[in-house]
Amino acid sequence: MSTLETNHEPRITNPGAATQRLKITEIFHSLQGESRSVGWPTVFVRLTGCPLRCTYCDTTYSFYGGEWREIDDIVAEVQSYAARHVCVTGGEPLSQKRCLLLLSKLCDLGLDVSLETSGALDIAPVDPRVVRVVDLKTPSSGELARNLWSNIEHLKADDQVKFVIGGREDYEWSREVIRQHNLPARCEVLISPSFGVQPPEQLAEWMLEDRLDARLQLQLHKILWGEAKGR
Ligand code: SF4
Repeated sequence: MSTLETNHEPRITNPGAATQRLKITEIFHSLQGESRSVGWPTVFVRLTGCPLRCTYCDTTYSFYGGEWREIDDIVAEVQSYAARHVCVTGGEPLSQKRCLLLLSKLCDLGLDVSLETSGALDIAPVDPRVVRVVDLKTPSSGELARNLWSNIEHLKADDQVKFVIGGREDYEWSREVIRQHNLPARCEVLISPSFGVQPPEQLAEWMLEDRLDARLQLQLHKILWGEAKGR
């Protein structure tokens, strides 16, 4: 991030006018490409900014820029799509503390709300009505050291943990983490091949050989639309 860009609010002369804002990269309507909700029409709210730099990141455009939006305006735009599912994503959405408020307001509307998070920030304060999709960063991400292991204790049955696999080393590391922490007893475990790097059929064979208690997932939106932004 340049020295001119920040996700902290700019100082304003009228305090209170901007007390409930978030920096937003994009809001769009598409099909959910990942997680247990794959295939459902979903509104995506992509927050700006991420403290990580994963090697395989496909949303680097969310690191910078963005637009400050009132949380109530964001909620209104989400409602305008009349979708049952909404996914708050990034970047790392939890890097903006008011994300917690947005999540609760969306839950109050009775929507199915999910949060996609890097696993590097504390998920404990997230509204329990939210389905948390929590990454555990594999070695090839380059961000292994950022995993916040205490998050595992906060996982509930309707949450999901996700491993992105970029090769055999990632797979074996993930297999051991799944077993050591008995993750299938806590929540659903998702295994996703790194797009264009890990052949999915090979990953499927490894999982079957090991009787791995996890769910293989392909990124539906990339199968449908490639790596187009806003999909
Ligand atoms: S945590 Fe997500 S948004 Fe941030 S660098 Fe990694 S893949 Fe990209």
